[in-house]
Amino acid sequence: MASLPAPPRALASILDAASDPDVQIDSLARMVAADPSFAAVVLKTANTTRYRGSRQEPITDLRQATLRLGVRSLRNYALCHTARCCAASGDLGEFDLNQFWEDCVRRAVAAELLAEHLHGVDPREAFTVGLLLEVGVVVLMMAHPEHAGAWGDVQHAEPIVRLSQELVLFGRTHADTNAELAEEWQLPDEIALPLIHHHNADSVPTPLRDMARVAAGAETLASVLSSHDKRSTLDRANHQLADLIGADTDKVSEIVDALGQRVQDAAEALGIHVGEQPRMEDILKAANQSLVNMNLSYEDLVRRLEALIIEKEALAAQLDERNRELQRLSVTDTLTQLPNRRELFRRLNDELHRIKRHGTSLAMVVADIDHFKRINDTWGHVFGDEVLTKVATTLGGCARTNDVVARVGGEEFAALLPNTDLRGGATLANRMRVSVSRLPLTAPDGQTVRITVSFGIAWLQGPWRGPTNIEAVSTQLYSAADGALYHSKKNGRNRVTPSTDAVPWAQDVAA
Ligand code: GH3
Ligand code: MG
Ligand code: MG
Repeated sequence: MASLPAPPRALASILDAASDPDVQIDSLARMVAADPSFAAVVLKTANTTRYRGSRQEPITDLRQATLRLGVRSLRNYALCHTARCCAASGDLGEFDLNQFWEDCVRRAVAAELLAEHLHGVDPREAFTVGLLLEVGVVVLMMAHPEHAGAWGDVQHAEPIVRLSQELVLFGRTHADTNAELAEEWQLPDEIALPLIHHHNADSVPTPLRDMARVAAGAETLASVLSSHDKRSTLDRANHQLADLIGADTDKVSEIVDALGQRVQDAAEALGIHVGEQPRMEDILKAANQSLVNMNLSYEDLVRRLEALIIEKEALAAQLDERNRELQRLSVTDTLTQLPNRRELFRRLNDELHRIKRHGTSLAMVVADIDHFKRINDTWGHVFGDEVLTKVATTLGGCARTNDVVARVGGEEFAALLPNTDLRGGATLANRMRVSVSRLPLTAPDGQTVRITVSFGIAWLQGPWRGPTNIEAVSTQLYSAADGALYHSKKNGRNRVTPSTDAVPWAQDVAA
C-alpha cells in the first residue's frame, strides 16, 4: 500500500501520549513546543471562537492553550497536522495542496455546524472528523501522482459522482484509503468509523452513527461551495439536511452562509490560505442559471425532435406515395393504362366471393381486335400501339363504374360486368363494337383506317347455393366467353356472340 510517510517524531509522541489516560498537561505542552509549526497551530486554534467562547483575553501561553484544547482536541489537531506534514513532504505531482486543504477546512466547519444542530454530537470532535474526511485523497495521490491533473475535475463533482470517478481513476475510493490510514495510525473508533463509513452511515453502530451522518452531511454541504453543479448539490444538501437536522431550505441557506464565514477563521488558525467563500446568493444564482441552461437545451431538444418528426412524416408520405404508385403499376397495363390480366382475375375472384354471399348475376365479355396483325404489318408497330391505346380508351369509355375493362393480352381485352346478365352484357358489347368501328383513325400515310372488334360473352347462372370452387368457376367463365369469341371470329368477325350455355354456379366443386 502506498501510504503517508511516518509522522514527524514530535507529533508521533503527542499522538502516543494522548492515548494515555493519565497523561499530564505539562508534558503534552512540552511535546507541542517541540514542533514549532504545530505549536503555532495550537496557539491560534485556542484563540479561535470555537475554544475561546465568550472569554475576551487572548492566550499566548502554550500550556494554557493545550489546557483549553483538552487532550482529545489536541490529539485531533496533532492528527491533522501530521497529515499536513506528511502530504507536504510527499511527491503529489500537480496536486493542488492548498485547494485540497481548503476543501478539508470546509468539511471541518460544515461538520461542526451540523453537530451544533444535532444533540449528542460534539462539534469539536465533528470538526476534526470533517478535517480528516479527505485525508485518504492524499494517499490516493501519492500512489498515483500522474492523476493529479484529473483530480481538479473530480474534486468539483458532487460526492456520489466523485466516488465512481475515484474508482475509475484509482481503483478505490478515499473512504477505502481512510480505512488504511486509520489502521496505520491506529486511530480511535470514534474518529476512524465516521472517516471510513461516512458514505453508508447506517452501517455504523449507534453511538457513532450520528457522527458518520454528520460527516456525510458535511461532505455534501462543503460540495455546495466547491461543486460545478450547484443545482444538483444544493438539491442534495436540502434533502440530506432536512433528514439529518430537520432543516428547511431557509435554514440550509443560513448554514451555507455561516459555513462560508467560519471557513476563513478556521483556515487562518490552521495556517491555510483560503480565498473568499461563495455566498448563498451567488450559489442560488448559479443553480438557477444551470436550470435556465437546462431548459434552453431542453427547448432545443424539443425543436430538433419536432423537426425530425416533420421530416419523418414527409418521408413516410413519400414512401406511401411510392408504394401506391408501385401498387398501381403492378395492376396496370403500361401501354393502355387499363387494368392488366392479373388485376382482372383478382377482381373476378373478389366478385365471385361477393356473389357467394349475396347471389347476383355476373357477365364476362372478351374482345379481340380483328386482323390486327395487318395494321402492324402495313403501318408498323408504333401505329399499332396507337390503335391499341385508342381501342382501349374506347372500350373503357363504354363501361360503367363498377365494370372492369382490362387488357388481357396483345390485342385482347376483357370486361368483367358485375350485376349484369346476358342481355346486359350483349348490350354493352354491342355498344363497344359500334364505338370502335366508328373510331376515326388515320394511318401515318394519311389513309383512314377502320378497326373492328369481335366479342364473346359468358354469364354465370344461379341458384347461388351450395359449395363451389371459385377458381374453377372463374376459369370456366373466361373460357366460355373466349369460346363464344372464337365463334364471332369464325362467323365473319365484327360481331358479338353469347356463349350458348350459362356457366353454372354450384356444380363445379368436383372440377
Ligand atoms: P384475328 O382477327 O384472328 O384476331 O387476327 P389478328 O391479326 O388480330 O390476330 P393474330 O393473333 O394473328 O395477331 C395479333 C397481333 O397483335 C400479332 C402481334 O404482333 C400484335 N400485337 C400483340 N401485342 C401488340 C402490341 O402491344 N403492340 C402492337 N403494335 N402489336 C401487338
Ligand atoms: Mg386479333
Ligand atoms: Mg388475338
